[in-house]
Amino acid sequence: MTGVFRDLPGQDAVVAQLEKAAAAASALLSGARPSGGDRGGRPPGPAQPGGMTHAWLFTGPPGSGRSVAARAFAAALLCPSGGCGECPSCHQVFAGTHADLLLVRPEGLSYGVKQTRDLVLRAAGKPTGGRWQIVLFEDADRCTEQAANALLKAIEEPAPRTVWLLCAPSAEDLVPTIRSRCRVVTLVVPSSEAVARVLIDRDGIEPAKALAAARAAQGHVGRARRLALDASAAKRRADVLRVPAQVTSLGPALSAAATLVRTAEEEAKAVTEELDEPEREALRRAFGEGSSGKGVAKAMRGMAGAMKDLEDRQKSRATRVKRDTLDQALLELALFYRDILMMQVGAQVELANSESDLRPIASASTPESTLRRIQAIMRCRELLPLNVAPLLAVEEMALSLSEG
Ligand SMILES: [Zn+2]
Repeated sequence: MTGVFRDLPGQDAVVAQLEKAAAAASALLSGARPSGGDRGGRPPGPAQPGGMTHAWLFTGPPGSGRSVAARAFAAALLCPSGGCGECPSCHQVFAGTHADLLLVRPEGLSYGVKQTRDLVLRAAGKPTGGRWQIVLFEDADRCTEQAANALLKAIEEPAPRTVWLLCAPSAEDLVPTIRSRCRVVTLVVPSSEAVARVLIDRDGIEPAKALAAARAAQGHVGRARRLALDASAAKRRADVLRVPAQVTSLGPALSAAATLVRTAEEEAKAVTEELDEPEREALRRAFGEGSSGKGVAKAMRGMAGAMKDLEDRQKSRATRVKRDTLDQALLELALFYRDILMMQVGAQVELANSESDLRPIASASTPESTLRRIQAIMRCRELLPLNVAPLLAVEEMALSLSEG
């Protein structure tokens, strides 16, 4: 696979659909109107399959590449050659700097109505490059109800050259009124072999290592790449997977719980710190900090308010990253026990973990206790979004794991 769609392993059907739509979009721009579409070059509604439409919903499990697919489609729509992957336009889309691409990534737990209204206003503008004005909205499921209503209006009455690309885990995560106005693109979980192939070809990772990382990441390309390339990510995973062997009795179980929570917090801190400081720096520069002259004092007073807003947003993002990181660790743990269960019942499925790690625990326990352990992990995952203190929830889980 070449061009802008090359980072979508195992998504051949989706890629074929998007390539066809991008060609239809190009035809609309050049004045030909093959199927539907009005005189203004406005794309037809979602009902006509195969062609172009102005609202798309990319769905698929975490890591399947919804936002990668949406980004590639945006590049194909904006590229004069239909998505070559080489030209300045394609590079700008992937760098997130293209003037006709609005990237929306909700950083807090929800996306509000005021932000959405601003976005709708900006989305209605004319494309500077003469092709399309594209809004790529990641995690569109985080819209509040009012925000979704504001969004619905924009999608119901689209500006002629505006294309909405929404991403969400599943179509059911959006209100039916929005869903029904979008063409739904469903990504599948790619096979480990397909993911490994990308790591080998694109990142130069050695085949055995690439396949192990791809299996551990269960089809999540970004995570597989991190596991193969980032030693600290691999170490954190190893720490999580030591838990099953550690939870032998009360004391070790509690200390395993503490380690689990601390590891997740460290990872979350590393992620957010990397983002926070450059944002604060950019804001200070925007307000002209360090310069002098008329109006600077007034600007500085304005900055205090903007800085407070930014810090509130960063705080809300930090909470989300912390929760997501711990959840990721719990999923890894659940997957470890799922592998154990598969081994215990003799099922022929691809295992995410190495057999030598699984065997001692598989032979020392029963499928029934493995199931109870998986349930304990899932219960803990359900408690965390309810504002239960993470350490308490994880301790309770670790105790259940030790009881078997
Ligand atoms: Zn291009």
